Amino acid sequence: MSASTCCVPFPKVKSYTKQFITNKNVNKKRNKAIKNPECTCFKCLKETKENLHTIEIPQTGYGSRFDGLNTKIQLCDKCYKLTNPNWWKFKQIPIKELGDAGHNFTEYKYENEIFEYVNQMPLAGQELFFNRFASGAGADYMDAQEWIDGELNYECL
Ligand SMILES: [Zn+2]
Repeated sequence: MSASTCCVPFPKVKSYTKQFITNKNVNKKRNKAIKNPECTCFKCLKETKENLHTIEIPQTGYGSRFDGLNTKIQLCDKCYKLTNPNWWKFKQIPIKELGDAGHNFTEYKYENEIFEYVNQMPLAGQELFFNRFASGAGADYMDAQEWIDGELNYECL
């Protein structure tokens, strides 16, 4: 997910951020590294200690998009209730395409839905998911703001 450094970011970053703009401050917050990750909802970026749902996602194996990626998603109660609770059971299913490979390769049943959801999070929330709260070979290990800035540049390609 990390972006390369090969594009000219400035003019296009502006047009990217425009799609969020309803209020300049909100927009700014969405692209700014989270200061208190332990009590922030990844989806709406509100800070709360009450009813914060911390969903641990253990890494899986080859063929899954969570291969080598341990991470977590934190959601406030309001955002959590808008998700499908089945996603968070992490039921493993065999990967059909790898059925003949001689091993039991599995993926999470709802990983497409989970990644679609993650992709709709503000970048500041995605940064926590892919970077600061992530570990394993599939995790990014970057400075938080550099990760976000890299994604902004990436989007402009
Ligand atoms: Zn929330």
